[in-house]
Amino acid sequence: IRHMVNLKERSYPICITTSFDDFGKTFLSLRTGKKLLIVTDENVDKYYSDICSKELENNGFEVSRHVLAPGEQHKNLEAVYGIYQQLVEYKFDRTDTLVALGGGVVGDITGFAAATYMRGINFVQVPTTLLSQADSSVGGKTGVDFNGHKNVIGAFYQPKLVFINVNTIKTLPKREVSAGLAEVIKHGLILDEEYCYYINENAEKIFNYDENVLQYLAKKNCAIKGSVVEEDEKENELRAILNFGHTIGHAVETVQNFSLLHGECVSIGIAGAFRLSLYLGAVNEAAVENVKKMLLKLELPVSLPGLDVEKVYSHIFYDKKVKDNKLKFVLPRRIGEVFQCNIEDSELIKKVLFDLSK
Ligand code: NAD
Ligand code: ZN
Repeated sequence: IRHMVNLKERSYPICITTSFDDFGKTFLSLRTGKKLLIVTDENVDKYYSDICSKELENNGFEVSRHVLAPGEQHKNLEAVYGIYQQLVEYKFDRTDTLVALGGGVVGDITGFAAATYMRGINFVQVPTTLLSQADSSVGGKTGVDFNGHKNVIGAFYQPKLVFINVNTIKTLPKREVSAGLAEVIKHGLILDEEYCYYINENAEKIFNYDENVLQYLAKKNCAIKGSVVEEDEKENELRAILNFGHTIGHAVETVQNFSLLHGECVSIGIAGAFRLSLYLGAVNEAAVENVKKMLLKLELPVSLPGLDVEKVYSHIFYDKKVKDNKLKFVLPRRIGEVFQCNIEDSELIKKVLFDLSK
């Protein structure tokens, strides 16, 4: 399956497949330089570096490898620094290519290095988590965390290709699959009600790695995310709806010191957004309960007992989406439709956080 993201001269294909068989050939069609650096992390390296390198070498590329320590706590400038060092040492120029082989953490770090090395070198995404296949590999947001704040250093930088082998999910821990499903269902909740029900009905097949279902999810996610990015690449307005669940989610993620996965925090954030909307009279109780049930079926958390309400609240204000002390929220109007609004009532937000802490 091939899907195009149309961004004029920055357009690129997304290939959705079930193996790495065509990886080298697809790469050739990009007409890049001969040198490639595969950036991956220790976990992914074990499974997929060799097969990817071989595919590329068979097609005449000179492949080297850079292995990062895994996890959000390593998504920082030090990781980027290490990549720069290798690029300089191996004399990469702008025709050469950085390949991100891994999850969203590897993709965000590598993308930022690609955006900034020599003002931008070729960049290819090979996402290996459900979250990165569904969300982070498409759209061109790259970056790292800094001083405990999520994604505050970054750049918009589109890849030249996204190559998705859905079967890489098979080696992913189940908890990571669930976390990825938070961003998957987010796409349905903001734009496509039918898609939510599809995910809900096929939850078991997803957990059993049904190839057809996984390919359908990848296609659907790339289509939804791609269309939003095509409309508003740099997040002036529409793209902000992709942050659904993330205002509270990011704050929870930071306060928990990254002990919860990004997707898990997004799930809690989605539950929070529905509660907030309920208090504003924009959705009814039934929708709130319905969504909670769907998230629970995907084995995602919808609350966090003992959550430090004050701490999360103050972190929400550090979030980059805060303007003039008004909190910009993306809230549901129903399942499959959201709206953006500024919330000034701090007590209301605290009330929601208190609900989430029970
Ligand atoms: P991740 O990259 O940390 O991967 C999760 C874990 O799975 C890691 O331990 C990794 O080593 C391991 N792993 C990855 N692929 C594997 C595989 N196929 N088999 C076995 N293990 C594997 O996390 P993630 O959930 O993919 O991404 C989360 C990150 O993505 C966050 O930092 C978030 O901010 C970012 N993100 C970015 C965007 C964007 O638009 N750029 C969107 C959403 C999320
Ligand atoms: Zn996210």
